[in-house]
Amino acid sequence: MKNINKIALKKNQDFNIDYYFNGIKNKNITILSRAITLLESTKIEHQLLAEELVDKCLPFSGNSIRIGITGVPGVGKSTFIESFGNYITENKNKSIAILAIDPSSTKSGGSILGDKTRMNALSTNSKAFIRPSPSAGTLGGVAKATRQSIVLCEAFGFDTIIIETVGVGQSETEVNSMVDFFLLLMLAGAGDELQGIKRGIMEMADVLIINKTDIEQTDKVKLAKQHYKNALHLFPSNPNGWVPKVETCSAIKNENISKVWDIIYEFVSLTKTNGWFDEKRKIQSKYWLSETINSSILNTFYKNPKIKDLLKELEDKVITNQISPFKAARILLKEFCA
Ligand code: GDP
Repeated sequence: MKNINKIALKKNQDFNIDYYFNGIKNKNITILSRAITLLESTKIEHQLLAEELVDKCLPFSGNSIRIGITGVPGVGKSTFIESFGNYITENKNKSIAILAIDPSSTKSGGSILGDKTRMNALSTNSKAFIRPSPSAGTLGGVAKATRQSIVLCEAFGFDTIIIETVGVGQSETEVNSMVDFFLLLMLAGAGDELQGIKRGIMEMADVLIINKTDIEQTDKVKLAKQHYKNALHLFPSNPNGWVPKVETCSAIKNENISKVWDIIYEFVSLTKTNGWFDEKRKIQSKYWLSETINSSILNTFYKNPKIKDLLKELEDKVITNQISPFKAARILLKEFCA
């Protein structure tokens, strides 16, 4: 995967905005892939071109359902996405793009979707596009590229977008800031603590799906379902009027997958009717505006050579109690703004 990206990046330098835009509008999947590689590049000239491309695609975007899927490694995310993707492309005449945000890949260089053995059947489905998580960059950078990739995938014509992430708590807030619907996959066998699912993630979920029911005892599944229903009940109610649901499925046996689609459909109908679907997207756009400004300011601040020297000097003074952290911060900001 890495090599392919590198080759594409080199080629990017020769391609202009029309090449990418026309390719996307003409449903050329290779050019869509190259355009996403451009979004992921940290080179400033690539980022400027990428920003222009995203803006050009913006009027053709927005017409999809954006679904976030999370759960601990091994819970069955890729098996579920494969089963779900094949179901909606074959039975609901949908097309699906799958993007990933993987905080672990920024450390290990690996990638949750990079493993070619995952989603074999879906990868040969002509109505599906699977994009591995970039294997370099910060979580913030990866999330920004994913947010921009959604726009390109929608302009291409995909009507269902899945953002997959590992349910360990770092990336879920990022995902929640770019999806309409959040799905949490769980197992019946283990308690929430064992599954490493943080309370905050459960609170974000619009549906909680207990997977692998084919290998669990019916009683245990029933009990888990009730347990999760009770747990969700304790959270404050959503302003969008949606009451989060708990469902069960067997991703490997394709059991109950249609029910999950029905729940998503019900959610979209409700929130489109009461206005929350659009409202959430507006809130998300504002979040990305402030988030991008914040990270740019921080970047500029810490990269400033004047600040770097002064920061070192003041840090030494702060840790030896010669000056308070508050005064030191004020001096640094004054210097930055001078
Ligand atoms: P991920 O790490 O969350 O993406 O999990 P995978 O989709 O890779 O699944 C982990 C393992 O669980 C694999 O061996 C799958 O075959 C298996 N698995 C996934 N879904 C089911 C299911 O519904 N039933 C059973 N019995 N196994 C499943």
